Amino acid sequence: MTTILDGKKLSAKMTDELTQKVAMLDEKPHLAVILVGENPASELYVGLKKKTAEKIGIKSTVIKYPQNTDEKTVLDKINELNNDKNVHAILVQLPLPGQISEKKVIQAISPQKDADGITPENIGKISIGVEPYAYPCTPKGILSLLDEYNINIEGKHAVVIGRSNIVGKPLAQMLLNRNATVTICHSHTKNLTDIIKSADVLISAVGKNKLIKKEMIKSNSVIIDVGTSKVGNRVVGDVDFDNLFELVSYITPSPGGVGPMTIASLMENTYNLFKLSRNG
Ligand code: NAP
Repeated sequence: MTTILDGKKLSAKMTDELTQKVAMLDEKPHLAVILVGENPASELYVGLKKKTAEKIGIKSTVIKYPQNTDEKTVLDKINELNNDKNVHAILVQLPLPGQISEKKVIQAISPQKDADGITPENIGKISIGVEPYAYPCTPKGILSLLDEYNINIEGKHAVVIGRSNIVGKPLAQMLLNRNATVTICHSHTKNLTDIIKSADVLISAVGKNKLIKKEMIKSNSVIIDVGTSKVGNRVVGDVDFDNLFELVSYITPSPGGVGPMTIASLMENTYNLFKLSRNG
């Protein structure tokens, strides 16, 4: 029998718990989000983050810049937010326009205010097995989902497709820290189907509709669909959900799986960074 990993339900539970915790605080956590340009997907994601923050009682400020903004403007704003005691967490919505270096931007964010958990210090801490100030939101959300359904990955072959700095690479490290045997695949990987076929846990973070088909997967495996792309007006995942559903033991729906877990993890990070700022 196949179980759906219900990210919508778990994220609602997480945000309810956070709402109660935030209600007990004298001061509200404050998340600052920098959005550059008019990318519709980014605007949608930032809107969802702001809405969730407000529901929980977290203050959120969105700082919007036009598409042609120069790098210095963004770096100066990050510096200002780093030094602002009333801001506890900073998120720069990616991707950024080409004239702005994502690497420079990520490195400019204070690790203690790193809402997305992607600064070199936090990623480095994860790599050496030390607790970071914040974990990257999407990988953190995926592990929370596995925990909720008591899925033990120790000794299992976990295959991660995609090697971005925000999803694939940190996720692979976090799975390794939990004693999974991890393979990372990307656009240059040869024999992708053979590798996928041997996955006990498959995580696809590509953004290609129906990349993962029924004939590619191992029976009774766990399938996590991170990727998003558009078919007409519909947002879809990487996995051919309807055709392979019955073959697997656990699977995330898309939408309603990893997406809401990413937002809930961001809210948890913001709350934790606020507490960190108060406890020194
Ligand atoms: P990304 O920067 O969009 O890169 C995509 C990755 O997929 C790259 O590593 C690329 O390989 C790899 N790839 C592309 N075509 C491939 C193929 N045919 N076979 C194997 N690998 C292939 O990565 P991202 O930022 O992690 O985003 C990935 C997807 O997840 C996107 O659709 C994004 O919208 C979605 N996403 C969803 C959430 C959520 O909360 N649901 C959060 C974050 C991202 P190369 O490195 O060789 O180019």
